[in-house]
Amino acid sequence: MANMSLKKVPMPEQDPNVRNKNFEEVALGYTKEMAMEEATRCLNCKNKPCVGGCPVNVPIPAFIEKVAAGDFEGAYEVITTENALPAICGRVCPQENQCEGKCVRGIKGEPVGIGRMERFVADWHMANAKETEVNIEKNGMKVAVVGCGPAGITCAGELIKKGYDVTVFEALHKPGGVLSYGIPEFRLPKDLVAKEIESVQKLGVDIETNVIVGRSITIDELMEDGYKAVFVGSGAGLPRFLNIPGENHLGVYSANEFLTRVNLMKGYKFPECPTPVKVGKKVAVVGAGNVAMDAARTAKRLGAEEVYIVYRRSEEEAPARLEELHHAKEEGIIFKFLNNPAAIKADENGWVKSMEIIKQELGEPDASGRRSPRPIEGSNYDLDVDTVIIAIGQSPNPLIRQTTPGLDTQRWGGIIVNEETMETSKDSVYAGGDTVTGAATVILAMGAGKKAAAAIDQKLQGK
Ligand SMILES: Cc1cc2nc3c(=O)[nH]c(=O)nc-3n(C[C@H](O)[C@H](O)[C@H](O)COP(=O)(O)OP(=O)(O)OC[C@H]3O[C@@H](n4cnc5c(N)ncnc54)[C@H](O)[C@@H]3O)c2cc1C
Repeated sequence: MANMSLKKVPMPEQDPNVRNKNFEEVALGYTKEMAMEEATRCLNCKNKPCVGGCPVNVPIPAFIEKVAAGDFEGAYEVITTENALPAICGRVCPQENQCEGKCVRGIKGEPVGIGRMERFVADWHMANAKETEVNIEKNGMKVAVVGCGPAGITCAGELIKKGYDVTVFEALHKPGGVLSYGIPEFRLPKDLVAKEIESVQKLGVDIETNVIVGRSITIDELMEDGYKAVFVGSGAGLPRFLNIPGENHLGVYSANEFLTRVNLMKGYKFPECPTPVKVGKKVAVVGAGNVAMDAARTAKRLGAEEVYIVYRRSEEEAPARLEELHHAKEEGIIFKFLNNPAAIKADENGWVKSMEIIKQELGEPDASGRRSPRPIEGSNYDLDVDTVIIAIGQSPNPLIRQTTPGLDTQRWGGIIVNEETMETSKDSVYAGGDTVTGAATVILAMGAGKKAAAAIDQKLQGK
C-alpha cells in the first residue's frame, strides 16, 4: 500500500542565517530512513511518465523500488545504466520541470522526491560501495572530446564503454566545466564532482587539461592525428554584457569571472590562494537566472551586507529554479523586480559607487512568450552599490568556429547539428550541450553527449 502523504519527506537544511556565512552545502541530504519513506510514495505507474520527463531516461520507478526495499547499491546500478553523474544531477537538475514535473502524485500534492532520492543513492554509493574492476574490450579506434563539462564527460563515458580509446581535451586546469567553475560549493560540493569524474576516468577515459582546442591544437589536426571522430562540448562560457555606460568601472564583474575566481581559484582564501576576489558592502547582481542567484548568494557569503538582485521583468518571469529563488530570499537577498540598470557610476578613483536604475512595467509578450518590460518615464533613481555583477547570459566562445573550417554555426555562435545524430556540417565532428543550445541545463548537455556517442558508434561501426 503506497504512502499517500501529499508532502515529500522534508529535506534537512542548514539554517538560512548560519549558511549565508559559510560555503558548506545548504541541503543536508536524506538519511536512509527518510529515503525509504519517500520511496513508498511512488505509485510505480504503468506508463511511467517520470521516465519520459528525464532527458537521459533513467528508469526511475525501478530505482525507487530498490530504495524502498533498502537495496541502495541495486538502486545505484539501475540509475547508472543511464546516468553516470547521479550525485550531481540529484543536486542541480530542475526536477520540477522534468521527472517530478510529470509525476502523477504532483497533480494533488507534491510529486515524489525523485531528485532527493537520486542524490541519496549516489551519496550512499560513494560512502559505502567497494571498487569493482571493469574489463572493456577495445576496438582500436580513438575518439577526441573537446571540453570536460557534463556533455563531454557523458560522451566520453559512453564511448569508453563501447571500446573506444577516448581523450578529453580541457582548456582549464581542472575538469568539470560549469560543475567545477560555475556552480558554487554550497550547492554542489567540488569533491563530489571530482569523484564522479574519477569514476569515468577509472573506466579508462584520459583527460588532458590545459589544452585549448583552437590554440594548442585544432580539430583538423586531431583528425590528422588519427582520431576517427571529435565531439565538441565546449559550452557557452562567453559572458554577455548590458552595453550601458560604466560597465568598465572597477568593481564590475561578469558572473562568470566572479564565480570562477571563487569556485575554481578559491578566491575567498586569498592570500593563501593566488587569485583575489573583492566584494564590497553593497552588491547589485543583474539578472534573475540560476547564475544570478549563485552570484548573489556567493557575494553574501563573502561578507556583503546588502545584496540586490536587479531584474527588468517580474518575479513570474525570473528564469531561476523556484528552489534557488526561495533559498536566496531566505538568505536575505533583496529583490528589485521591474528594475532595469541604465548606467553604472564611479567615484573619483574609478570604483563603482552607484547604479542608475529605471523602473519598468510589463507590456505585451515578446518572441520568448514573456511579457516585455518597458521603462516608466521619470522613474530613474540611483541605487548605492560598490560592486556590480552581471549575470544576463552567456554565448559559446568563438574560438572553435574561428579555427574549424567547414563548421556551420548560428549567427549567435551556436554550432549547428543534425538533431538526430548531433553531427555537425563537418564530417565526423559532433557537438552537444551549451555550445549547441546556448546556456541550458546539465542534464540536457548530458543527454546530448549520450546521443552523440551512440551516433558516433553507429557511424564508426558502419551500422
Ligand atoms: C553559475 C551557473 C549555475 C548553473 N546552475 C545550474 C543548475 O542548477 N542546474 C542545471 O541543470 N544547470 C545549471 N547551469 C547550467 C549548466 O551548468 C550548463 O548547462 C552545463 O554545464 C552545460 O554543459 P556543457 O558540457 O555543455 O558545458 P560546460 O559545463 O560549460 O563545459 C564546457 C567545458 O569546455 C571547456 N572548453 C571550452 N572551450 C574549449 C576549448 N576551445 N578547448 C578545450 N576545452 C574547452 C570549458 O573550459 C569547460 O570546461 C548553471 C550554469 C552556471 C554558469
